[in-house]
Amino acid sequence: MKKLPLLFENNRLWAKSQVEQNASFFKDMAKVQDPNYLWIGCSDSRVPANEIVGLAAGELFVHRNVANLFPHTDFSALSVLEYAVDLLQVEHIIVCGHYGCGGVKAAMQEHGLGLVDNWLRHIRDVYDRFKEELEKMEDPIDRFNRLVELNVRQQLLNVCHTTIIQKAWAKGQPLCVHGWIYDLESGFLKDLNCCVSNVAQLEKIYRLEIM
Ligand SMILES: [Zn+2]
Repeated sequence: MKKLPLLFENNRLWAKSQVEQNASFFKDMAKVQDPNYLWIGCSDSRVPANEIVGLAAGELFVHRNVANLFPHTDFSALSVLEYAVDLLQVEHIIVCGHYGCGGVKAAMQEHGLGLVDNWLRHIRDVYDRFKEELEKMEDPIDRFNRLVELNVRQQLLNVCHTTIIQKAWAKGQPLCVHGWIYDLESGFLKDLNCCVSNVAQLEKIYRLEIM
């Protein structure tokens, strides 16, 4: 069985360089993690969360899945969110999509891919909600990019609609949920300026009265 020697060698060099910069790096890290941000992003290998925002190990709590979705009943995502908000007390949650997302592209096509289509159904629902706006767009690339943005907005709202976030707001915990897009072609992030930081910014039907 191959043991991927390149990755072990890379790891050895990385660990060595961390210690050279800060002798107690791993000792400090092993004690506690204290990130101020939760990142919800796509699994795409071209969107490495820590690297694109220049944060070191320990500074970013990360959840990634195909097409950066946050379905209401996804216990993996909900568990990450609860841990980040209640225990780590992060102040910022970033839902980050990216142009050129294969998951979003697949959700715009008629032919199915298999099991993943059930996951991507969440994006088809976003398309359906905004189909009037999307289908007015003549350029398919513009339509694709717009759906990437709309998907981020919807997932951001899904995060905000959870009991976890609304409970934190009700307690007065400062918490801001941001929607960003990463551009694979330029390497730059774009803020969609749809940040939500209190319950009053949500549609009435989604506001929960939390005691
Ligand atoms: Zn993607």
